[in-house]
Amino acid sequence: MKKYFLFLFSLISFFQGISQEQSEKVVKLIFDEALGSSVAYENLRYLCKETKGRIAGTPQAAAAVEFTRQVLEEMKLDRVFLQEVMVPHWERGNVEYGNISSVLFGSREVPVSALGRSVGTGKEGIFGRVVEVYDFEELEKVGSEKIKGKIVFFNRPLDPTLIQTFSAYGRAANQRTSGPAMAAKYGAIGVLVRSLTHATDNIPHTGVTRYEEGVEKIPAVSISTQGANLLSQWLKKDPDLTFHMITNCRNLPDVMSYNVVGELWGTEYPDEIITIGGHLDAWDTGEGAHDDGAGCIQSIEVLRIFRALGIKPKRTIRAVMFMDEEMGQTGGKKYAELAKINNEKHYTALESDRGAFTPQGFGFGTQGERLEKMIALKKYFLPYGITEFKKGGGGVDIGPLRQFGIPLISYIPDSQRYFYYHHSPKDTFEQVNPRELQMGSAAIAALIYLIDKYDL
Ligand SMILES: [Zn+2]
Repeated sequence: MKKYFLFLFSLISFFQGISQEQSEKVVKLIFDEALGSSVAYENLRYLCKETKGRIAGTPQAAAAVEFTRQVLEEMKLDRVFLQEVMVPHWERGNVEYGNISSVLFGSREVPVSALGRSVGTGKEGIFGRVVEVYDFEELEKVGSEKIKGKIVFFNRPLDPTLIQTFSAYGRAANQRTSGPAMAAKYGAIGVLVRSLTHATDNIPHTGVTRYEEGVEKIPAVSISTQGANLLSQWLKKDPDLTFHMITNCRNLPDVMSYNVVGELWGTEYPDEIITIGGHLDAWDTGEGAHDDGAGCIQSIEVLRIFRALGIKPKRTIRAVMFMDEEMGQTGGKKYAELAKINNEKHYTALESDRGAFTPQGFGFGTQGERLEKMIALKKYFLPYGITEFKKGGGGVDIGPLRQFGIPLISYIPDSQRYFYYHHSPKDTFEQVNPRELQMGSAAIAALIYLIDKYDL
């Protein structure tokens, strides 16, 4: 009896060995296919150069929907379709002016960029003294009396000592998302937010802000980090200096837009869906190359690689271009809402929205045995220098799928340079390296292949 079990055990290990060897070969073929192809890079070029300004609700966003739909159609997938979603429509306008006036130092124009969803200032702009604060705690300490009628200047930098740059961003971002609403409660007339970047330069980084129901909507702009440093220095010596800002951005009625979806049907469990996605909308000041044209193109590329290599997944693989991640996150919400209405069975979902830099690994939003098994896939990636397989994952667009209790996976590339480009005019196609982009596509394709093959 004991002998029999021993035999069975060695037989199982033998087949596992063969299976692992086969998988290693397929992973290698996936990387070869990605690195030998320029299709993804050229698709990204088109998206960046021909649909620049594709923030939700704009004609450029509509062009991006049409372009990616066509790319998917031409791949002759099993199904390509659009999901209707109503999105906010905000227009930046054509005036963005910021100027510091000091009796001690003179007058200096500084680069500013209206925050998404901000109201404009009106033709004359707003003009007032400036109160600099580090965070909401300080805002409260300063209080209404000193803030009323002034411009609040949130000047908390990203903490440069944090190796996880997304954590640094996370700790500073609320001054942009909630700062204007908070400052308005204390009677501020406008808000300046230090750009959320590690760079010290004269380029403002935009991003969305959220007003609160029942609180006055005051104009809000980001200011370049050099502008913020200068303003802070001058304020210390001349607290009476004034700031003049003019913007003519505005909010328009919501419009119809779309998530774009392409499917490769599963051969064994076609009803089980694996979603791979990025977001199609991007801030209008740049080209949305790293954020998040790359994630969209990589998602499409996974399907192309599977097709090119004749990989027939057991489950249905979906590439999803989510609309409106930046402004209202309506695309991701709609996707999950429709999944529920249509009784879809989701198996797992992965998001690529951290730039097109060299892959480092994946974060897995799951636990227990499933987590352990996913982390154990690391061995297949070591030959490619991809080593970070860790607990904790998700993404803004796939987040609403959490209600189905499925693992949510983050693709993790190197993050040291990401916030130099993020939400700024510097996020252009030229900043994406084709090899780094494709190492990412390959890593994602390989991970999805393995998860599907081993039923993880
Ligand atoms: Zn993004």
